[in-house]
Amino acid sequence: MGRRRSDRSDRRRSNHRDQRRRECRFCARPGKEVIDYKNLNLLEQFVDEEGQIRKARRARACRRHQSMIAQAIKRSREIALMPYVRV
Ligand SMILES: [Zn+2]
Repeated sequence: MGRRRSDRSDRRRSNHRDQRRRECRFCARPGKEVIDYKNLNLLEQFVDEEGQIRKARRARACRRHQSMIAQAIKRSREIALMPYVRV
C-alpha cells in the first residue's frame, strides 16, 4: 500500500514538467526563433488584440524567455515598430 502510493506520487512529480506544463517554445527549439526587437512577426504573437503583452502562461514561454520577449516588445515600442495600444 505505502509503496504503491509513493510510486504514484513519484510518477506525478516526474511528469509535472512534461505534461501539466507545456514546454517553452524557445527552449524546445533553441536557435529556431530569434527573440529580437526587429522580429515583428514573432513579437506579434505575444501581444493580444489590444497590444498588451501576453502573460507567460498564455505565451507558452519560460520565465527567462518571457522576459526577453517583454524586453524586445518594449524596445520595439520605443522605436515605434510596435504600438503601445491598438485602438
Ligand atoms: Zn525558454
